[in-house]
Amino acid sequence: MAKKSPARIENPSTSQLHRHLQAVQEGTRRFENAFQGVARMILENQIEKVVVNGRTTYDFSIFRKGKKHVIGMYDEINSFVSYVKDAAEGGSSKEMAFVLVGEPGNGKTFFVDFLCARYRAFLAKPGNRKYTFRFKGMERLGHYGRINVIESQTYEDPVILAMNLFDDPEENKAFLAREIGFDDRAVDTLYEDYRPLGACSGYIWNDIRSHADGDLNRMLDFVEIIPVPLTESLGTVTGKYPAKDKITSSAVDLLGEESIQRLLHITDTNNPYRFDLRRGALARVAGGGIHFADEIYKNKKDLVQVYLGVIQNRNIEIDGYKWPIDSLIIATSNNSEFNRFLAEKEEAPIVDRCRICYVSHNTNYKMQKALTSYAIGSEARTTLTREALHQDPNLNYAASVATVLSRLPRSEKLTPVETMKLAAGEVAGEKSIKTLAEVIDTLNQEPDITKRFGQKGLGQRNLGRAVQLLTESSETNEGQCMFAYDIYRALERIILDYVAEANDRAKYLEDLKIAKGLYRERIMTEMFNAYMDEPLAIRKDVLNYVNMIIGADAENLGPDKMWKYKDPQTGELRALKIDERFIKSVEERLGLKTEEQRDTFRTAIRKIYGQKISVDPNYDFMDNLELVKAVTDVRLKSDIAGAGSLIGALANRTNEENQKLYDRMVDTMLNKLGYCRTCAQKTIEYFCTQEDEN
Ligand SMILES: [Zn+2]
Repeated sequence: MAKKSPARIENPSTSQLHRHLQAVQEGTRRFENAFQGVARMILENQIEKVVVNGRTTYDFSIFRKGKKHVIGMYDEINSFVSYVKDAAEGGSSKEMAFVLVGEPGNGKTFFVDFLCARYRAFLAKPGNRKYTFRFKGMERLGHYGRINVIESQTYEDPVILAMNLFDDPEENKAFLAREIGFDDRAVDTLYEDYRPLGACSGYIWNDIRSHADGDLNRMLDFVEIIPVPLTESLGTVTGKYPAKDKITSSAVDLLGEESIQRLLHITDTNNPYRFDLRRGALARVAGGGIHFADEIYKNKKDLVQVYLGVIQNRNIEIDGYKWPIDSLIIATSNNSEFNRFLAEKEEAPIVDRCRICYVSHNTNYKMQKALTSYAIGSEARTTLTREALHQDPNLNYAASVATVLSRLPRSEKLTPVETMKLAAGEVAGEKSIKTLAEVIDTLNQEPDITKRFGQKGLGQRNLGRAVQLLTESSETNEGQCMFAYDIYRALERIILDYVAEANDRAKYLEDLKIAKGLYRERIMTEMFNAYMDEPLAIRKDVLNYVNMIIGADAENLGPDKMWKYKDPQTGELRALKIDERFIKSVEERLGLKTEEQRDTFRTAIRKIYGQKISVDPNYDFMDNLELVKAVTDVRLKSDIAGAGSLIGALANRTNEENQKLYDRMVDTMLNKLGYCRTCAQKTIEYFCTQEDEN
């Protein structure tokens, strides 16, 4: 007699559902809802504590990975994470949608798209895959026409089916314990996320029950477990739903509708499977997915009402039939649409059901560097005639500073440049980060959102437009270079063409002027570095000044005024001669007249040194613009008798000596400082005009 395989005897029921449940019990497959999945995805990655604008907050590394990732948005991300976590733990957030409100072009849509892409990648990993079920062999029932296979329309989890096998929940729990081996606690945990079957799965399961005379093993023969498809364009798992205000758009696009085709096969008109839910966007993400409603308040009113129902009841409802859904609903809206919607009092219930998060622009000009390079584009650029297009090494700085300044509200306590530097974590003279924190606090009391910190200004889209103008201009194409100073003309054009409000326009133009002043200061340093034939000439001198005033105070200083110290960057022992004349000249340039003033300044520098070097040994004081400017001036004066004479020499190249100097500087700019011939010449030309000098 042939021997039967022992495994089959031990476990007579090896239906696909059994095997799936065993995998869940062993931990190789999961049963978790959308919130739990997203929360796990975020929290499994590294979390760092950071200080932003004087306040401690958390940074979630998942949002900082990849070639093009989210920049800044600390408050917004923190708020999103706490929303998801609260919902995952069963808090009130699970009955709410998360809505990002803010100005156009500040990164709302990018954030959600990024989140969705990450979530899809997360679910594609073996241990995280989503599963659902379908009923096969439907022809055996006789009244489904030529429909042989029926997939769960809302991608219900197989565990949901397992919790609804019998009408009596106790019988169900007993099944899970007996056949799969879940202990009481595991069963309870599963039931915390209990949902009934959707209308059609429930109806069909009952049909199968009568066909199989209630024999569970025969019933489970109909069930097949399949992975949920993860194709972005199908809108499964994550789906973006753009706002529709057209007359023709209707709830069908969200919920689905009766399918004539199915009615041709299904003889029983009560069968809810006659509704095709997948025609709507919601069913496709109902199995633990993310539904993204872009510009949610732009939708027709009845569609917004549909959303209200969905968010609150977590159901797709058609003609009284219900399909529970498990989705994270995340939406965006711009300020004006949101305010218009708020003004209509009868729409209050939907706002009640939303966790509103006001998204500000990026206000850190150093972080803006990455955003600006997104706008400039990562590919190698070419001119209209397809020749290589060079990028001025100052372009990113020039554009970043101008856009960030436009986003900083004016305050009486801080100048725009001080605000900008503090918001980037830099030193701003005597002003401390505390002052900025106070300014932000006061501004954030404003009931008008757009008056709060960073809520208004030139957005990423405007910056992109300015870069487009720059690349299409004839100067850029002729010179085959995106010259930094030209970005200001392009930005001015954008402000005039796209900023509707007169006050905003005036402020942004003023900000542009301040930005040009900062650009000018940067060019001064660049020219000195070029003159010295040394990319870091100014930086060296700035550090020398700092080391000298520290050394001047040291006890081990001999009569030769040589100070020996350990270089914090290299750890090497170095000797530095304290040059009193140099120190004095720099301090004169800084406008420090009395002994007392000088002492206060030196104490401040020593304090910064003590604080910064311990955290960052590479800190170089180059963000201390006043100091950099003073050192540059002193050097220009002592080495070439003043910036004026360098300008004179560069501007007047009729004599051989001056031409030589010019050629040598251009050479350094080309070979050591990253310029091309066009931007090197244009930069020197700009330096000679003395424009934007303050
Ligand atoms: Zn260039």
